Amino acid sequence: MSAKQYDEIRAVLEARKRELNERLERITANVRRGLQADSEERAKEMEDNEVVDALGNEARDELARISLALSRLDAGDYGVCTQCGEPIDRKRLAAYPFAAECIDCARDDEIRGSRPV
Ligand SMILES: [Zn+2]
Repeated sequence: MSAKQYDEIRAVLEARKRELNERLERITANVRRGLQADSEERAKEMEDNEVVDALGNEARDELARISLALSRLDAGDYGVCTQCGEPIDRKRLAAYPFAAECIDCARDDEIRGSRPV
């Protein structure tokens, strides 16, 4: 990949990171508001918080992947599968810029039951 392509990927990852951080801030603010709600609304709030929590975990999970992808960009081993060392397909990187594994290894992970990256 050319330096320009790396720059583009970095820009996509940084933008996504900002978006996720903003989402997490909103989620945290919602949870805080929920905790301040009076007891009548408590049951409903708790339900909402569970949903909010799941969303928060998803965002945190993706943020962690993005951070790893950015550090791989810095290290110069971005786009190489962390499992088998083969280059990751360009189309896959376009769809999942934070992918750490090639499609074959991600599929193997899925079969083994761990989450594909
Ligand atoms: Zn692989």
